[in-house]
Amino acid sequence: MTIYTKNQEAIAKKIQPETKLSNWMDWKWHVRHAIKTISEFERLSGITFSQKEKKQLQKTIDHFPLSITPYYFSLIDRENYQNDPVFRQAFADTRELYNSKSEMTDPLAEDHDSPVPLITHRYPDRVLFLVSNVCAMYCRHCTRKRKVGDIDNIPTRKQIREGLDYIRNTPQVRDVLLSGGDPLLLSDDYLDWILTELRAIPHVQVIRIGTRTPVVLPYRITNDLVKMLKKHHPIWINTHFNHVRELTASSKRALAMLADAGIPLGNQSVLLAEVNDCPRIIKELVHKLVANRVRPYYLYQCDLSKGLSHFRTPVGKGIEIIESLIGHTSGFAIPTYVIDAPGGGGKIPVMPNYLISWNTNKVILRNYEGVITSYQEPENYKKTFCDRGCTNCNLELDLREGNEINTIGIEKLLADYDETISLIPARNERLKRRERTKNE
Ligand SMILES: *Cc1c(COP(=O)(O)O)cnc(C)c1O
Ligand code: SF4
Repeated sequence: MTIYTKNQEAIAKKIQPETKLSNWMDWKWHVRHAIKTISEFERLSGITFSQKEKKQLQKTIDHFPLSITPYYFSLIDRENYQNDPVFRQAFADTRELYNSKSEMTDPLAEDHDSPVPLITHRYPDRVLFLVSNVCAMYCRHCTRKRKVGDIDNIPTRKQIREGLDYIRNTPQVRDVLLSGGDPLLLSDDYLDWILTELRAIPHVQVIRIGTRTPVVLPYRITNDLVKMLKKHHPIWINTHFNHVRELTASSKRALAMLADAGIPLGNQSVLLAEVNDCPRIIKELVHKLVANRVRPYYLYQCDLSKGLSHFRTPVGKGIEIIESLIGHTSGFAIPTYVIDAPGGGGKIPVMPNYLISWNTNKVILRNYEGVITSYQEPENYKKTFCDRGCTNCNLELDLREGNEINTIGIEKLLADYDETISLIPARNERLKRRERTKNE
């Protein structure tokens, strides 16, 4: 099937005059010919920058590398590039050099929660495994800007073995999230090896892959790749579409191949100023995604990484977007809006408020239309006291399935079998004062 356009044909010829058009469908060709310099961008786009702009742009990409696949480049609207969401995500902006006080190189403290290189173990039962540090395209809004594209930091086979050992020796881990960089920039064989090793670990129930290739390099999704992935089910894939303009014939084809291979697909968008900070754009995006069998999973508030300040929106914008979705469209088309807590607290969902008030008999709710309604609490609810003994309980939990080791956080406060009555920050001044008085 030929799915390239006239525009793409012209770009291919400009990049390599003797090129065969079938090269356009070859993902390695796109990696080899990724646009990495300002002058190559100028040559291919016909857009020119002043000497002064060029100097500033060069400084920016010395800091955060530039790499745009010819495919993703072909989606840029060159007539109106300044306002183009594809251009903004792909091409350097001198505002990336601006440092605001609140920004950090590792805002999510991924390095602190890292027991071995490449692994971030933040949640009780799942880990992030950064198996690759290259991407086909370097998103200008990448939260791991400090890491991706750094040639001194390419994960070695030895480090990957160490990561696998950690997972093997940590039985709580039932979900492994391969990320990077982009894991699908690894070769089929190398990825096959990692997946085979993970599959051999009995407690690993699911493996997830985070990849932006369906968006920036859809030709990476080949028959050989899906055939290989299928061997390792259950595999889940999350991709990263931010704008409807990215759902092209090529990317739809890639998504269909993955879905046909029985891989559940999710999408993680980032809310970006001047790219997709609009309820209508996001609604259109989620509709197109579900029409292509992709479930909108998260909408991320932009992180506090260095160089991203011009992409950040107020949290209110995200809430406004979710308000425009809940009730207005299919439940499964609505992503969870999350803020990844600076300092490493993990993802925190944020929502408009629907629960307005309550007393012991009723709760008062409002719906998406503004209708205010009340829900009567049950009159004869039998309160049960849970001691986690389970054998005396009539709920018939198979004990082999209730395998958490201990409760954490708010769940602890809610539990009957735990005597904790409050959670107190480690460095609480009031309690330190108490200690001091006691010691005097
Ligand atoms: C996002 C993330 C996960 C996965 O979180 P889910 O909510 O299960 O998708 C795991 N580990 C880290 C460090 C993460 O940032
Ligand atoms: S694909 Fe992901 S990891 Fe790679 S540059 Fe984009 S946001 Fe960063």
